[in-house]
Amino acid sequence: KSGTESYDHILKLLLIGDSAVGKSSILIQFTDDAFDEDIGTTIGVDFKVKYLNVFQKRVKLTIWDTAGQERFRTLTSSYYRGAQGVIMVYDVTNKESFLNLNNWIKEVDSYATYEDHIKLLVGNKIDLADQRQVTKQMGEKFARDHNMVFIECSAKTRVGVEQTFEEIARKILETD
Ligand code: GDP
Repeated sequence: KSGTESYDHILKLLLIGDSAVGKSSILIQFTDDAFDEDIGTTIGVDFKVKYLNVFQKRVKLTIWDTAGQERFRTLTSSYYRGAQGVIMVYDVTNKESFLNLNNWIKEVDSYATYEDHIKLLVGNKIDLADQRQVTKQMGEKFARDHNMVFIECSAKTRVGVEQTFEEIARKILETD
C-alpha cells in the first residue's frame, strides 16, 4: 500500500547530531513503534517514510538518517539538499553531544540549500533521568538563542517522539 497513498504535501526532514545520541532509535520508534536496546552505535537507516495529518492535510514525510556517516564527518551537501526541516538531536546524558550542537548549526547553515529550513532541537534519552548531564533549561536556552523549537524525548519510552515530527511538520507548513 505504501507508495500508492496520495498526499497533499511531501516534506524532506533530516536527523543530525553526534553519533549514538539516538537518531536512528527516534526514527524507528516513530515509524515502526519499536526500540532496540542493544543496537550498538548505529543501525544505519537511510530514510523512512511516514504519513501524518497536519492541519487537515495529508503529509508524506521522508525522514533521512545519517546512517552513521557523521562518525567520519562525511555528511555532504547532497544530504542536506532540499530539506525543509532539520531535527538536531543531542543526548541529555552526554554533555559533549550538547556542546557539539554549535558545530552542527554551522554545518547546517553552510550546507542547507532550502533558505527557510526549519530547525528543531531534540534532547533525547530522558528516561535515563539519573544520568542526566544537560538540564531542560539548558536545552530551552540554546533553542531560544537559535530560534528553534525545543522538545525533550525518549526513543525508548516514545515520550515526545510523535510530537517531534508533528511539531516540525506543522512549523514547515505554517511558514510555507
Ligand atoms: P545514532 O547513532 O544517533 O543513530 O544513535 P542510535 O539510535 O544508534 O542509539 C545509540 C544507543 O543509544 C543505542 O544503544 C540505543 O539503544 C540507545 N538509545 C537511543 N535512544 C535512547 C533512549 O531514548 N533511551 C535510552 N535509554 N537509550 C537510547
